[in-house]
Amino acid sequence: MERNCLSCGESMQGRADKKFCSDQCRNTYNNRHNGNISNYMRNVNNMLRRNRRILHEMNPNGKITVHKDKLTEKGFNFKYITHCYTTKKKDTYFFVYDMGYLLLERDFVMIVARKPEDAITEKKKLVTT
Ligand SMILES: [Zn+2]
Repeated sequence: MERNCLSCGESMQGRADKKFCSDQCRNTYNNRHNGNISNYMRNVNNMLRRNRRILHEMNPNGKITVHKDKLTEKGFNFKYITHCYTTKKKDTYFFVYDMGYLLLERDFVMIVARKPEDAITEKKKLVTT
């Protein structure tokens, strides 16, 4: 039975379940099909990295309150966070890795820093309880 390579379309011989004429064609095909999700993930990762950098730059001493506009001006995107944490007082902190923020009244934002180790412990606690 003759089949065609799913990537380049060349006819090929061999096992019935063979889909590609070469490893190169397999890679090309897979890259093409995974490209969209890879690009998307790369973009999200870049957004998260940028958000984290902005929070870190704005908050060199561990805690600060700024207006939301200051963050937006720098390119901060409020859509991209890694996790959130609600305290007993029902305040929800949004985190970008180890940098968190709490939305305050009149569009102010309090930025806090968390030791990465603590952030991980916290997550574990949330999962197990
Ligand atoms: Zn091929």
